[in-house]
Amino acid sequence: VSKSPGEFHLIERLLKRLGPGRCATLGPGDDCAILPPAHARQLLTIDSMVEDVHFKLGWGTPEALGARALTVNLSDIAAMGGKPTVCVVNLSVRDGLGVRFFDRMYQGLASAAAHAEVEVVGGNVTHASALAITIALLGEVRGAALRRDAARPGDTIYVTGTLGDAAAGLRILSRQLRAPAAPRKFLVDRFLQPTARVQAGLRLARIKPAPAAIDLSDGLWQDLGHILKRSGAGAEIDAGALPLSAAYRAAVGDDPSLALGGGEDYELLFCLRHAAPAPALTRRLGVRVSRVGRITSSGAAVLLDDRGAVLLDARGSAPGGASPLTGWDQLRSRLVG
Ligand SMILES: [Mg+2]
Repeated sequence: VSKSPGEFHLIERLLKRLGPGRCATLGPGDDCAILPPAHARQLLTIDSMVEDVHFKLGWGTPEALGARALTVNLSDIAAMGGKPTVCVVNLSVRDGLGVRFFDRMYQGLASAAAHAEVEVVGGNVTHASALAITIALLGEVRGAALRRDAARPGDTIYVTGTLGDAAAGLRILSRQLRAPAAPRKFLVDRFLQPTARVQAGLRLARIKPAPAAIDLSDGLWQDLGHILKRSGAGAEIDAGALPLSAAYRAAVGDDPSLALGGGEDYELLFCLRHAAPAPALTRRLGVRVSRVGRITSSGAAVLLDDRGAVLLDARGSAPGGASPLTGWDQLRSRLVG
């Protein structure tokens, strides 16, 4: 299918927003971008955001949408301890959206890219039945990468930031949860405008031995599961240690199920061989760090209350219950009753 004059026009307009190149030898405008030879190992990741699957247009601004499409990719580079460098963007455009919308979306993307020192070296616009933005991002890692398979029994488990805010924000946006104005804004912004912990990831990568790490895109319980599977280990998580924001407590209360099972926080979970006090790590990483548990040799994850009793076992079965955990909704029903 050939591109319509409108699509060429759109590409030209969007390319103008990207500014002059720095890292690329040849940026947008040719068939490919040309990159100089790499001096470090390269990381490569890709992620898509599709209308009515990952977002609804009415939820936020086009700028926030453009920025978020980059942030979710930045978070994957952060989770490997890398520095993001260049990206390419594919935009699927549907009928009914004007050039002004895409100008604003690219403005948000360009600002986020500038802030992260990422260069947008190329892109493609295609016509489709749904609006979607896909970004492939390169990064480089100079030290040891933060891998999911590096956790060992005895490691201490930490997370950055607070958990469950984005999940609460998403539920507010989709009218499943109500909250007073101030916490509402905080939680909704945490969903619409997440922060990737790139600096924290880079600083983690200087710790020896290299910590196991993952970014929390699907929720702590699921993402921790990826580390445990890859590392062949188990874990104990202390329910009372999960960091909850004041806004989360105001909207949800002390129920930690969204913090455990809700995704899209884009915080980092990491495992240290040599435990350090959370305040010292907070200073070192430049972001709040909380100690939430430890890696065990059991091959399973369990959630413990403050007296060490099991609230939830590896398969998501609460004591007395038997059905397996398949998603946060069941986790929530397990925890909330
Ligand atoms: Mg990830």
